[in-house]
Amino acid sequence: MRKPIVAGNWKMNKTEDEAVQLTEDIKVMLKEGINADVILCPPFTALSAVSHSLRNTRIELGAQNMYWEEKGAYTGEISPQFLVNLNCNYVIIGHSERRKYFGETNETINKKVRTAFKFNLIPIVCVGETIEEREKGVTEKVVETHVKMALKDIDEKSCRRVVIAYEPVWAIGTGKTATPQLAEDVHRFIRTLLSELYSKDTAEVVRIQYGGSVKPENARDLMEMDDIDGSLVGGASLDTSSFVKIIQESIL
Ligand code: PEP
Repeated sequence: MRKPIVAGNWKMNKTEDEAVQLTEDIKVMLKEGINADVILCPPFTALSAVSHSLRNTRIELGAQNMYWEEKGAYTGEISPQFLVNLNCNYVIIGHSERRKYFGETNETINKKVRTAFKFNLIPIVCVGETIEEREKGVTEKVVETHVKMALKDIDEKSCRRVVIAYEPVWAIGTGKTATPQLAEDVHRFIRTLLSELYSKDTAEVVRIQYGGSVKPENARDLMEMDDIDGSLVGGASLDTSSFVKIIQESIL
């Protein structure tokens, strides 16, 4: 049985004070002992304060991105070591907004995934097709390339720890959720691909999240699918009760 995993991607929202407030509210509403991994991914500027606020809780911290070098002349970038020192356990890699607005490619995403493992950070690797690609019927081809390239040169032991987030780009921030069956079809495809790339056993332990307009109203139907193990939540993670409800709905 794979443990449910729900992550909140706050994107470029929340000042430090607002982020701490949101964290404190989530802590109050979320019963300790909940049987899911819960991860908060605030902006870099709030990581330190949120990290402090999460001390002695079971909620974990994630970053939304990082660079692949440890240190040096890379103005404006964030080192994996900085994240480790702030008690981050997870890092989102290759979000479609980073692919679209910041020129991230399958190659740079792979460098980041490899670096994440080197620093013992768990990468949440985002994959998914655009609406044009879906309409052209190349969803599986696109997702296969994203997964294969992100995991290039990643050994099986590391692969077992990776989290893959299937996020159809047309469903992100649009209110259009993929139907549970449509999402499940792609999740199953990814799991089959992992079993070809590694082994059936490894494919069975890798957690695959769905992302794209997840809300309290659709979280349970998605989670009831065999290969959907949790969600990567954008907009709804900025609202305490929506986010907590999604987590509760994810525990079947
Ligand atoms: C996301 O940013 O990863 C996301 C899925 O956003 P939203 O939930 O707002 O669609």
